[in-house]
Amino acid sequence: MHIDVAVIGGSFAGLSAALQLARARRSVTVFDAGEPRNRFAAASHGFLTRDGARPADMLAEARRQLAAYPTARFEPVRVETATGNSDAFALICSDGRSMTARRIVLAHGVIDSLPDIPGLADEWGKRVAHCPYCHGYEFGGEALGVLAANGPVALHQAMLVREWGPVTLFLNGMLEPNADEAKLLDAHGVTIERAKVEAVVSGANGLTMRLAGGRGVEIAGLFTQPRARLSSAIAELLGCALTEGPFGPFVTVDDRKRTTASGVFAAGDLARPAPSVALAVADGALAGATAHQSLVFDQAVAA
Ligand code: FAD
Ligand code: MG
Repeated sequence: MHIDVAVIGGSFAGLSAALQLARARRSVTVFDAGEPRNRFAAASHGFLTRDGARPADMLAEARRQLAAYPTARFEPVRVETATGNSDAFALICSDGRSMTARRIVLAHGVIDSLPDIPGLADEWGKRVAHCPYCHGYEFGGEALGVLAANGPVALHQAMLVREWGPVTLFLNGMLEPNADEAKLLDAHGVTIERAKVEAVVSGANGLTMRLAGGRGVEIAGLFTQPRARLSSAIAELLGCALTEGPFGPFVTVDDRKRTTASGVFAAGDLARPAPSVALAVADGALAGATAHQSLVFDQAVAA
């Protein structure tokens, strides 16, 4: 099957891109492996009109609205490879099907590499999160922790999270603030904890950070910013340049979501350093419109 645009990843960014293309009456197929980054969270916060909604409900509603357009298709399948160039991309899916497309929108997101501490992964999206704007308010001003997982960004995060409650920064052997940084942390009222974190223990009302030597620190919630990697090698297969960000590599895009590979656009968490549903939806809308306009204006001119 030959289509105008293949969207790889069908969550907030990908569905938003597809909506613009479907409304322009272009044939667009969204491929989705069904594992959005926030699937561990019961509620998504900060998206206008949907504050506190279940992520799965938001996506189901988006798929329902997209399905009303006759030129849009949604395929719940992973894309394994994509090759080719503008006007002639070839995709192969995990179920063996293949498809050709004139343009590609990459929206397959990233995968978080959580710190390997017993108990932490079980609380991811519950009492452990990476973004205080998303999940800070719900802790009601109670004691919070920040766990260093990825170098000096933890110092910045600790001072920021202090806006949402008293903060203990668990350095966990990852780094040691210099004198200036220690002074800044102190000025922001951040308590520093140097003992290794051995486990994160869930309780009825919060977490206990179990430390080497047997001590425990009680907190309502924990923030940590782990490294993230692209959830597919397709961007690199297509020759898209990557940028190294504070939390890992992301696909380089210009201000209209064009990657460095002609005919390939990128939107959402895989193409920006800091994640959010609102930003992924905005990126997707822009990538979809730009991909559409490239179909209109970037015609090959016969010699
Ligand atoms: P994703 O939502 O990650 O979707 C990518 C999709 O592509 C997935 O369905 C995936 O399975 C699919 N995919 C991957 N590889 C392939 C492939 N090869 N072929 C086909 N499909 C593929 N943001 C907020 O604004 N508010 C919040 O409250 C909030 N809470 C969060 C809580 C947690 C625990 C986490 C981890 C994140 C949270 N976020 C929140 C951030 C939010 O999840 C992301 O910003 C958002 O999901 C990005 O959307 P996306 O479409 O770029 O990627
Ligand atoms: Mg998406």
